[in-house]
Amino acid sequence: MEIQILVIGAGPAGLMAAKYAAEAGANVLLAERADRLGGQLIKQTHKFFGSKEEYAGERGIDIAAKLIDECEKNSKISIWKNAQVLGIYPDGVVTVSYQGNFCTVKPEKIIIATGAAEKTMAFANNDLPGIYGAGAVQTLMNVHGVLPAKRILMVGAGNIGVIVAYQLLQAGVDVAGVVEAGPAVGGYQVHAAKLQRHGVPIYTSHSVKAAHGSCCLEGVTICRLDKNWQTVAGSEQYIEADGLCLAVGLSPLTELLWQSGCEMKYVPELGGYVPLRDGNLRTTRNDIYVAGDVSGVEEASAAMVEGKIAGLEVAALLGCRKPDVYQALQQARGQLRALRSGPAGVKICNGLRKVVLEEVG
Ligand SMILES: Cc1cc2nc3c(=O)[nH]c(=O)nc-3n(C[C@H](O)[C@H](O)[C@H](O)COP(=O)(O)OP(=O)(O)OC[C@H]3O[C@@H](n4cnc5c(N)ncnc54)[C@H](O)[C@@H]3O)c2cc1C
Repeated sequence: MEIQILVIGAGPAGLMAAKYAAEAGANVLLAERADRLGGQLIKQTHKFFGSKEEYAGERGIDIAAKLIDECEKNSKISIWKNAQVLGIYPDGVVTVSYQGNFCTVKPEKIIIATGAAEKTMAFANNDLPGIYGAGAVQTLMNVHGVLPAKRILMVGAGNIGVIVAYQLLQAGVDVAGVVEAGPAVGGYQVHAAKLQRHGVPIYTSHSVKAAHGSCCLEGVTICRLDKNWQTVAGSEQYIEADGLCLAVGLSPLTELLWQSGCEMKYVPELGGYVPLRDGNLRTTRNDIYVAGDVSGVEEASAAMVEGKIAGLEVAALLGCRKPDVYQALQQARGQLRALRSGPAGVKICNGLRKVVLEEVG
């Protein structure tokens, strides 16, 4: 099958891009470096917020299963698992390590949907075994059924921190507390309230000073921060824990964008360096589009709608215009605007104003 569109990454953004591009009539290759599809969704056992169009009220794992099923059943989508895309060259050739072999493909257009990587923190002994990112903790618990520790201290009270802390409680782990550098909980109040009902203390305006242990984590010293984010002398507190979970943000996984020569800009509101793009998610390279966290860290719902927009837009450009492509595009743009219209969207919209070169109506 001739490949018209290569979609890189099979998280919510990549799955939606592949699905909508194929439904519009394009031949799609979906390449995923992992041995299963779904990206971050396969570890998200909680129900999603948002509106019906973005699967609100459903669990991340169930949303992944639906999207994967639709992609697998579509004969216009070829799926490569264990396929890590290594490079995109000026002539449009893409190199892939596919199931242990190197190969090249030359699609007409590329949609990069590689997601994001977890950020970490600098403190003494931050490399002790027992210190994890929140994504790793979710993978251990919810994908492999392995408890990461007996007593865990969570760092970060954003959505990911409070959700993963609650999932740890549900799995029978003792959650020693949630440490948050900001003056207030940033995550959904409903999850924070569940933690508080279980007696989990939330230490706002606090941070981690040091981790302790000889061969693995045994305890953590936390300290209070003043309004200038400086340590308050004498405020140190030792908390016994054999696990420390860092939920301190994500940064877009942009290596392929840098390597392929797309123009990039540092935008703190979007999580780090992101590509300049137009309102249709086309980067400064005509053949490369982006969707999802790689274009700015948001949430799965926004990643799905961006995937839909990129998939439809690229398919339409290639002349694949099965009924209602333009109407579907209009509707998806409206969905994205609605998702970003609440208070949580203000930061994202401020960030987007710095990188979107040309808005589309
Ligand atoms: C711990 C955690 C909890 C979260 N909880 C929620 C939540 O409750 N609600 C919510 O809305 N959002 C949540 N999010 C955020 C949400 O998961 C992401 O916004 C969403 O998954 C982004 O989708 P994506 O498709 O852009 O990226 P991802 O889901 O990260 O998928 C990217 C895919 O690309 C693949 N990939 C990367 N590089 C390559 C390459 N070179 N070649 C081939 N494949 C590659 C990766 O393996 C991955 O499968 C959470 C995130 C984390 C980390």
